[in-house]
Amino acid sequence: MSGQSIYKFKDRAEHSAPVIGGSLYLWAGDQLDLPRVHDSPQKRKLTSTVETFSFSSARWSSHLTRGIPPLGIMGYSCTTFHSNIYYYAGWCGHGHCYHNSLNVLNTLTMSWTQLHPNDESRMKKGYGGMLSLEFEGTDYLFMVGGIGTTPAVKHLQFQYDQFRDGRALTNEQLLYNLSNGQFTVPSVSGQCCPPTSGFTINKINQNKGIMLGGTVTNDGLYTVTNNIYIFNVTHNTIHWESIKGSISGEGLWTKERDGHASAIINGDSTSPTLVVIGGQYKYNQLMTECLLFDNITTGQFSCKKIPLPESVTGRYFHSLTAVTMSPHCVWLVIVGGCKEFEWKGRVEKPIVTYITDTNRLTMIIELVYIEAGSKVDGNKLVIMNEKLEEVLQEKQIITEDNEKLKAKVDDYEVYITEIEEEKKQSYM
Ligand SMILES: [Zn+2]
Repeated sequence: MSGQSIYKFKDRAEHSAPVIGGSLYLWAGDQLDLPRVHDSPQKRKLTSTVETFSFSSARWSSHLTRGIPPLGIMGYSCTTFHSNIYYYAGWCGHGHCYHNSLNVLNTLTMSWTQLHPNDESRMKKGYGGMLSLEFEGTDYLFMVGGIGTTPAVKHLQFQYDQFRDGRALTNEQLLYNLSNGQFTVPSVSGQCCPPTSGFTINKINQNKGIMLGGTVTNDGLYTVTNNIYIFNVTHNTIHWESIKGSISGEGLWTKERDGHASAIINGDSTSPTLVVIGGQYKYNQLMTECLLFDNITTGQFSCKKIPLPESVTGRYFHSLTAVTMSPHCVWLVIVGGCKEFEWKGRVEKPIVTYITDTNRLTMIIELVYIEAGSKVDGNKLVIMNEKLEEVLQEKQIITEDNEKLKAKVDDYEVYITEIEEEKKQSYM
């Protein structure tokens, strides 16, 4: 625990921040203090820590975990199931060292368990995606895509686009059965996504998800994409559908992006809404926008931009979490990421810069529903950061008032005592 003082974390990128109960859980990711080595005591110290953000106190605190945390610390895939957080694969932080272990953090005991070791049985990679899905009463983890080292075992139904540097981009997919702990390699049908990394995937309903953007290859070169796919799991097959071109509203198809973050907002009475914030466009440019995709399950897919300042949207490699606060509103919590590139060197190269400004590190946006549990109103946005401070300040004012009141009471007590003393004396 952090003790009495207010705990603050400094910077973070290429992480996830899932929500369980009333808290956000933040493990690993890139950070300035992280040693660029395979393993070291300092790296272990950082990876044996989980930071949580409590929605009741609006404060971060730091917790030590038990057991051995995984080494895939950046661009890992992450999803929740009940009180567990699952972490799969990820980049080690140096060279071409990628991982493929599956680990679970039990948030009740804050302890790690390795469900599958880092081994050669399948591709080692990072920057893919993972969701928990359910089909006919069985719960699965579904893993897709990413970039990593060329695997020893390739599956015919998937592609592995190889680069000269020895790395490969893939659309490989896996299912992990949560009840029996077995991995299976599913077959695919429909319009499967190409090898992609740096995309986002979100769960739409029990057995359906949506994938947006990312990096793909074009003639052996990396390029960003604006692909959007809906996929669903049935038996041992993942069915894919590209919805590119079927969008309406504002007459715009979304631009290419990667390193963006997205979240699903589930109202009670409407089809889920997908929110997308930030990311990179071509040539290391920031995508400073927030998009809302409505009706994503109805086939009448629509997209609109919602106005948020660049302090919120001007970032990539950040996390975005949607948290239902009441039937009337949902909070979007944006944590960390990188800001504008700095161009340095004789032949100017883009240098990654982390968001370290405390006013921008954790940002909370309140979205209000048009009616309770219905569609979100894209025009009613409140940046809660200032409001949160107000709430905390109010608490402080109350405390101060109590102190003053107490001081007054003390005065009266003294006064009463004095009068009583006087009375006593006058009776004498
Ligand atoms: Zn390593």
